[in-house]
Amino acid sequence: MQKDEGYSKCIRCGKTRILLKRWKDHGVTGKGNVVHHEQTVCPDSECQKIVDEKFQAMRDIKAKAEERKKAVLESKLMAKKPVSTSAKA
Ligand SMILES: [Zn+2]
Repeated sequence: MQKDEGYSKCIRCGKTRILLKRWKDHGVTGKGNVVHHEQTVCPDSECQKIVDEKFQAMRDIKAKAEERKKAVLESKLMAKKPVSTSAKA
C-alpha cells in the first residue's frame, strides 16, 4: 500500500498541497525538543493567497478572543482582592 505522504489537502480547492520548505528548530522557547516544521502550499498560487488571507483572519479572530479572555480573567482577579492572611490572634 502506498504510504500517505501526510500532506494536507488544500481546504479551498482540495488539491494536494506541495511542500514548500521543511525545517526544524527548538520551538518558541528555544529549548527542549526539536520541533519539525513543514510549510505546505497549494499548487495554485492564487488559491494559496486566498487561503493565506483566510488563515490570517482566523488567527486575528483567535488572538482577539484570547485577549478578551485574558482581560476578563484579569478583571476577575482584580475584583477578587487577596484574602488577608494576617489574622492576628
Ligand atoms: Zn487550493
